[in-house]
Amino acid sequence: MPKGIALLVRLIVSLMIDTEFIRKEFPILERTVAGNPLVYLDNTATSQAPMRVVREIERIYTGMRANVHRGVHTLSQEMTNLQEDCREKVRQFVNAGSIEEIIFTRGTTEAINLVANSLGSTFKTGDEVILTVMEHHANIVPWQLLRDRTGIVLKVVDINDKGELDIEQYKSLFNDRTVLASFCHVSNVLGTVNPVKEMTAFAKSKGVTVLIDGAQAIPHLKVDVQDLGCDFYTFSAHKMYGPSGVGVLYGRKDLLEKMPPWQGGGEMISVVTFEHTTYADLPFKFEAGTPDYIGIAAFAKAMEFMNETGIREMEEHEMRLCRHAEEGLRNIDGIKIYGEADKKGPVISFLLDNVHPYDLGMLLDKQGVEVRTGHHCAMPLMERLGIPGTVRASFAVYNTLQEAEALITAVRRAAAILQF
Ligand code: PLP
Repeated sequence: MPKGIALLVRLIVSLMIDTEFIRKEFPILERTVAGNPLVYLDNTATSQAPMRVVREIERIYTGMRANVHRGVHTLSQEMTNLQEDCREKVRQFVNAGSIEEIIFTRGTTEAINLVANSLGSTFKTGDEVILTVMEHHANIVPWQLLRDRTGIVLKVVDINDKGELDIEQYKSLFNDRTVLASFCHVSNVLGTVNPVKEMTAFAKSKGVTVLIDGAQAIPHLKVDVQDLGCDFYTFSAHKMYGPSGVGVLYGRKDLLEKMPPWQGGGEMISVVTFEHTTYADLPFKFEAGTPDYIGIAAFAKAMEFMNETGIREMEEHEMRLCRHAEEGLRNIDGIKIYGEADKKGPVISFLLDNVHPYDLGMLLDKQGVEVRTGHHCAMPLMERLGIPGTVRASFAVYNTLQEAEALITAVRRAAAILQF
């Protein structure tokens, strides 16, 4: 299809998102902040949950709550079925090969810690792990803890001026000591969508295991773990319209089978004696203790919301708002945008002259515009950029063009106050 026609089709598809209808499922969006209508643009940190998620939690608390996998009684069985239905829905959502490859965690952070502690326990002194400078602390610190225990070496891929990974450098970091490459699919600060499929293919051609931190990709992009070819993919429900306290580790079955458990307790065992314990089969081997089964069940409703709305349509809509806001912000004197990658997610990180991001964030809050300020759990990236932090606005499917405009107006007003 010629490029112009493809663009037109995308615009029409994005216009098909009926925000008025969608927003009815999100009553929180009706509230005010400091006397102004709420403009919620902190979706990268946590997106709001639709009423079907809230109702599901209420339905379970008021009619079904019982611990999973432990009872023959009806409530426990109903609850177990709901949890396991969700596992199947996650499998379909990311196109994993089997439900044994879907491990429930508390979030992306715990999923990465699981891999660092379990797979990482097989790494030897001098083995090398490749990270990138744009990683969230969740994909840095677990590997540093492992380094301190085992003496592995961490290597870091740099970015260019647009905030894109230096892929030639990435390739040059591989050698016969490389055991793992772990990188984000989408940067939570720059919005850069990394060429993860190509990066994975390169790593696999060198026999290296790949973990993709998908926390910022899965709310906006269609993810197919088999197509990506990665060994691990991690994400958090609270960033995809679901409840907090729930996340997922997708792991390739043959790898997970070989990996030792990382936490011990109930649910993850087969037989326990004081002399010896044998472990449960996948996925339960990695799910010690009572999971957030109510959160997990409600997460299924969040995925249902995303499927119904259409992930590709959501992405088109969010990017349209993001580009509109970016254009408007660029027209304000003193604004510098961080992250100019050719392929971006709906995130804008920016600074106004040498105004501290907190000061700007406070003035936006006074106008009802909720953005995040600071280092965004990416201190090494801030150091690389030579800044203390940024102001970050991020879009979700329920945001509107008027809200993108409200951001521009609020920044303009704040600039007028701060610069004079
Ligand atoms: N990775 C990325 C890219 C993120 O943006 C975040 C959270 O913002 C995380 C990991 C950590 O996610 P969680 O706090 O849900 O574990």
